[in-house]
Amino acid sequence: MIHTPLDVERIRQDFPLLVTPFKGRPLHYLDSAVSGLMPKVAIERMARYQALEHTNVHRGVSTLSQEATDHFEAAREKVRGLLNAPSAKSIVWTRGATEAINLVAQSWGRTHLKTGDEILLSAMEHHANIVPWQLLAQEVGAILKVIPMDANGELILDHLDRLITERTRLVGVVHVSNVLGTVNPVKAIVQAAHAKGAVVLVDGAQAVPHLAVDVQDLDCDFYVFSGHKLSGPTGIGALYGKKSLLDAMPPWHGGGNMILSVTWEGSTFMPAPQKFEAGTPPIAQAIALGASIDYLKGLGFEAIAAHEHALLECATARLLEVPGLKILGNQEGKAAVISFVLEGVHPHDIGSILDHENVVVRAGHHCAQPVMRHFQVPATTRASLAYFNHAEDVDALLRGLHKVREIFG
Ligand code: PLP
Repeated sequence: MIHTPLDVERIRQDFPLLVTPFKGRPLHYLDSAVSGLMPKVAIERMARYQALEHTNVHRGVSTLSQEATDHFEAAREKVRGLLNAPSAKSIVWTRGATEAINLVAQSWGRTHLKTGDEILLSAMEHHANIVPWQLLAQEVGAILKVIPMDANGELILDHLDRLITERTRLVGVVHVSNVLGTVNPVKAIVQAAHAKGAVVLVDGAQAVPHLAVDVQDLDCDFYVFSGHKLSGPTGIGALYGKKSLLDAMPPWHGGGNMILSVTWEGSTFMPAPQKFEAGTPPIAQAIALGASIDYLKGLGFEAIAAHEHALLECATARLLEVPGLKILGNQEGKAAVISFVLEGVHPHDIGSILDHENVVVRAGHHCAQPVMRHFQVPATTRASLAYFNHAEDVDALLRGLHKVREIFG
């Protein structure tokens, strides 16, 4: 039994995958860090758009097109509200967090970085917030530096003042680690970076599903996330950028939907965010993401966090009773992500045995190979909890792990 403000059994009815037998049995979905499940209201919203409202946006005078544009822009406004951004003009639709980071690297980065400039990233970044900067650094001759972390899975910030130098142009930091669940002190990092004139990009892919985010309070320059981690569909995500930065950035993709005029001599572009949204956007996905945001707001982010925290405490205590099990990432107040290793057993074997038990977890390097190297493991097994998980999911995880112990001794 856990104490929770959420009526989880009712909430579970909103998720077709949780109430439909999978391989003839209940499914235990402990993989929300990979992708969050979509509630029925969002699935139905997407279907309604496809069935009855489908057309293109920002073009055409038809009522159908105008209504699609209204729904699409209303969804942008919902993202604005989610992040407490000052204006919807600061919200750029992207395919996800990865594309949003690439947009910043290619548009802002190419404009502002030159040989010898420094990019400072944390030691716990997802590849999505490493590789775009490496590509850029190679192109312009910039230098990548790393904020180290300790054995507990927390950033070592004692020397941040020295790590951020006069040459640091950008600091990239993950808000919540997808491997460790660590919640980074983003506001303090932003203050330190701004004191040296560097801008800060925050990767919020794993934060938005767990915490209330306020980009104005954080004062970050860029914030990115993916819709599918927020109980929305794949193929949609967003970039928040401070308006002054977005206004000064050049487009990175060219095409329709982003221009003011085109002649053979050259083109002029619409203001942000449209200048970054060339081509037909993922309209149904954006509208469905809006429905997911409404759904989560209805549950309440505080209640979601309280529920996940209670489940995390219970799962952590029980996991630590499994002989030879070690959890990586033990920050006090971390988000509901548990990565672990089990002595003598490869995470892939654990993942396969759990799969037989209908327990879905992720086994692998989690697109964070530097984190694996830090802890000197090839991979981990990761159970990630969400607002729709109940104690039975933790029971099933533990049953599966005891099977693993029986098989591997
Ligand atoms: N950043 C973090 C922390 C993530 O966990 C992920 C996905 O796992 C990403 C970025 C990339 O997200 P996407 O593949 O949806 O672009």
